[in-house]
Amino acid sequence: MPYAREAIRKIAGYTPGEQPQGKPLVKLNTNENPYPPSPKVAEAFQGENLARLRLYSDPTARELRETAAELYGLHPEQILVGNGSDDLLTIMTRTFVGEGETFAYATPSYSLYPVLADLQGARHLPVELDENFCLPQNTAELAAGAKLFIFARPNAPTGTLTPFEGVVRLCETFDGVVWIDEAYVDFAGENCLSLVGRYPNVIVSRTFSKSYSLAGLRVGLAFGAEELITEMNKVKDSYNVDMVAQILATAALKDSEYMRSNARKICASRDKLGTALSAWGCKVLPSATNFLFVKPARLAARELFRRLRERGFLVRYFDLPRVSEYLRITIGLPEDMERFLAVWKELDA
Ligand code: PMP
Repeated sequence: MPYAREAIRKIAGYTPGEQPQGKPLVKLNTNENPYPPSPKVAEAFQGENLARLRLYSDPTARELRETAAELYGLHPEQILVGNGSDDLLTIMTRTFVGEGETFAYATPSYSLYPVLADLQGARHLPVELDENFCLPQNTAELAAGAKLFIFARPNAPTGTLTPFEGVVRLCETFDGVVWIDEAYVDFAGENCLSLVGRYPNVIVSRTFSKSYSLAGLRVGLAFGAEELITEMNKVKDSYNVDMVAQILATAALKDSEYMRSNARKICASRDKLGTALSAWGCKVLPSATNFLFVKPARLAARELFRRLRERGFLVRYFDLPRVSEYLRITIGLPEDMERFLAVWKELDA
């Protein structure tokens, strides 16, 4: 007799991007930030804060929520803190979608969404993005009947940004919860936070993993109507965010200008690389993120992925419908991107 539930045995689970060991590779595969976290984070990582580790962390992460509330113009009761935004996505599924109920998600997008539906025993309702990899006009109709619809804005892995009016229309007409995954929003120049106070069914999630250079810390934030946050609070583990993470994320938020200055540098490198690859004959999708989604000029994406790796550059290849001709390139340090471009041109000739 197999021990695990059948629903678990029959799925593959989520495969995270590779964290290579051994051979040094320039890591352009998981959208981490090439700049270190704020110096204020290092300062907070010592002294009396270390002594506080003797105690349990604050289950409500009050200080972090209050800091975030002030920064984003919300109430602390409208905020939930997660162990990375992935934790928030799990809490979301468990809170809003019962077994056998419908979980709608945009596709192609973050490949964790369908896995969450599987884990919950939910019915899948994938909504295909349009030819520009944005939400179709009739998304609310396509997702009708679902308890929840999730999409990433900007989208991953394509980097594209659904126009704001389309999101507003969706929030107004969809019956279930609309979850807007803003993991990459600090590179976009606009966001959906204003919808949180306006609609009772909207949740926006963010992460410290990309713009704040803290992927290893594992902290994410969700913003939504107090009624939704209250229900999610019942589902999360009591101590889902450890004390180090709470202290350091608070320090990072208090120095958000440092984050913004790095984001500006990354966007400048992104645009420079995008222009150069387009001029070379590649198809480069418009990006509102810290990565580019690129169809090579000549080589097949899978082959170029392999050859780039041999030359020391690790990017991401997705062998999935509609995206298998593209490579996703995280924007690294300017000097690495210059070498990267030279190698790309040599290989993709
Ligand atoms: N949403 C999207 C769209 C992502 O690409 C990622 C990163 N893989 C996440 C959420 C999760 O980020 P984290 O758990 O590090 O906050």
